[in-house]
Amino acid sequence: VRTPLIAGNWKMNLDHLQAVAFVQKLHWTLKDAKHEDGSVEVAVFPPFTDLRTVQTLLDADKIPFSLGGQDLSPKDSGAFTGDISGAFLAKLDAQYVIIGHSERREYHHETDEVVASKVQAALRHGLVPVICVGETAEDLEKYGASAVPVGQLKTALADVPADADIVVAYEPVWAIGSGQAATPDQAQDVCAKLRAVVADTLGADAAERTRVLYGGSVKAANIASFMREPDVDGALVGGASLVVDEFAAIIRYQK
Ligand code: 13P
Repeated sequence: VRTPLIAGNWKMNLDHLQAVAFVQKLHWTLKDAKHEDGSVEVAVFPPFTDLRTVQTLLDADKIPFSLGGQDLSPKDSGAFTGDISGAFLAKLDAQYVIIGHSERREYHHETDEVVASKVQAALRHGLVPVICVGETAEDLEKYGASAVPVGQLKTALADVPADADIVVAYEPVWAIGSGQAATPDQAQDVCAKLRAVVADTLGADAAERTRVLYGGSVKAANIASFMREPDVDGALVGGASLVVDEFAAIIRYQK
């Protein structure tokens, strides 16, 4: 069985002081929630400049949230001004790193090949890549929902070993920040196809073990409908992960 993963991608929000207040408040709001017994995993993805502070807080207060970066360099070190090595994330006890978010693909022109090289970098440093795929509104009209994300995932997994620990996130670009979430049926359909890609490339065991998340306008009001789908193992939450009560309610979803 796959442990559901509720992940908060803060994007470029919350400085390191705001992050401390936020994480403490979230932790207190969640006292006795099911993440305490391990039946749901909660992960936060703060900006790089917050990571050290958040890691120290999680550690000191024994807060059971996982931690991840929002991106990493395909390189390990060297003359790459402004880039962050996976080695640095691993040193900060980050377990995860988001790779290929549509905002990186759009604003930083990350191709499927760049995404694949970042997946390799994450694995080299013992980080679990959260590989984001998804179609734009234009792709949806031209090719339907699954063709683009399936192609993106195939390229990302090309040189990944069968025993690698990965997470896949299906985030239709038209659903991100739009208030217009995919329907649970749509999410299930694409998530099942992405799991089939994992089966084809990494094998049946990997497909059984790998968590496939849905992301795009996830809220407390719709999380349960996604979590009832057999191939949706969690959510990658943007805007609603920045509001303590809303994110706590998402974590406390009841199927
Ligand atoms: P929203 O939840 O704000 O739609 O963002 C989703 C997302 O991009 C998470 O990575």
